[in-house]
Amino acid sequence: MIDADPGVRHFTDFLSRAGLKSTRQRERIAHAFFAGRRHVSAEELYHQLRSRDAGLGLVTVYRTLKLLRQAGLATERTFGESYARFDPNPADWTHHHLICTRCGKIQEFQDATLRELGARVARSRGFTVTEQRLELYGICRDCARLDGRRTPRGSRGVPARPRARGVP
Ligand SMILES: [Zn+2]
Ligand SMILES: [Zn+2]
Repeated sequence: MIDADPGVRHFTDFLSRAGLKSTRQRERIAHAFFAGRRHVSAEELYHQLRSRDAGLGLVTVYRTLKLLRQAGLATERTFGESYARFDPNPADWTHHHLICTRCGKIQEFQDATLRELGARVARSRGFTVTEQRLELYGICRDCARLDGRRTPRGSRGVPARPRARGVP
């Protein structure tokens, strides 16, 4: 149920406070965005929704994502691509990303040591931090495992380890 989605409810509250109309289409876009828990581009979300809504336009999806950002319910980011991705986490939730350059999977992580290091470096330079972000690019575990499987018999693959929490 779209109405039961707290993200969508916050969004419709924001729209009415801003004097903007809350259309079913905007609600459907917001619902799909929160349900996906992914760092999507407007185009990806558009293609995902278009099969069920032939009247949907890319511009509407893009504008809705921008409104979600204005509402503080999404963060706009670029990960080495020419287009923006929208993070379904609020801007004030500090976290970092691991980006697989092979399959495009984006995982999130938080690290207290990193936060302290950033604060220490900033302090020593009289610098006030307003935002901290770290992006690590490379090969994810799944892709590394596939590589391991492709290597000839007798060579060592990548050892299996428990899965980390992550948003694809
Ligand atoms: Zn994120
Ligand atoms: Zn990968």
